[in-house]
Amino acid sequence: MVSQSKGYYKPEIVAKFYDAMNEAKEAGIVAKLARVSISAANKKMGAVASVSLLPFITCPARCKGTCAAECYAAKLANLRANVRKAWANNTALVISNPREYWRQVREAVAAVRFFRFHVSGDILDYEYFVEMVNTAADNPHTEILAFTKRYEVVNSFVASHGGAIAEAIPSNLHILFSGWDNLKPINPFGFPETIVYHNESEIREEWLLCGGNCLTCGCRGLGCWKAKAGEIVAFKKH
Ligand code: SF4
Repeated sequence: MVSQSKGYYKPEIVAKFYDAMNEAKEAGIVAKLARVSISAANKKMGAVASVSLLPFITCPARCKGTCAAECYAAKLANLRANVRKAWANNTALVISNPREYWRQVREAVAAVRFFRFHVSGDILDYEYFVEMVNTAADNPHTEILAFTKRYEVVNSFVASHGGAIAEAIPSNLHILFSGWDNLKPINPFGFPETIVYHNESEIREEWLLCGGNCLTCGCRGLGCWKAKAGEIVAFKKH
């Protein structure tokens, strides 16, 4: 088990994220003119647009004992005030005014070929996931990627839509259940999964190794965009 006193899951850092969200609320981010921050690209993903939420605050409780101490998103949000503010604004908006958040996210998804949910943060709840599914269904020209540790929400959606992923979720919405050293996803419907490995780890032949640029994977139909049931995408820990 990862020690919670180590790394980024510290009370002062969690408090910093809550403060940023509360500041966003007080600054009127919930008003109609609030803009969702959509990232056009980042170093890892290439030109894949994305929307993110605050780490820890929007992540499931299981992150506390697993990935949270080494969370790269928390590291970034802790160090860079502009990043923290952007993610705090998005989080404040989706909590306070989900209709406006989704209007803008839908607009962003409609305008691009590849989109990723949550470089930071996670699916908030069942209603949030329904919006993701509807957004994907309404934009079949956009390939959408999302990693999640909020397995129960996705499992419950699939269960209530007949129990088959292909029937419940549009084919352009690529959901991967994210694992960790000490976390095996709860995955009764067979979503593709992700794991992390270290320098000393034995690399398994069947793993799809992350190549580091999501746009390249998307354009070539590789990696997470094409991962199927039973397949595992492996990420090297930095
Ligand atoms: S495998 Fe490809 S699509 Fe998946 S995270 Fe890595 S670079 Fe991105």
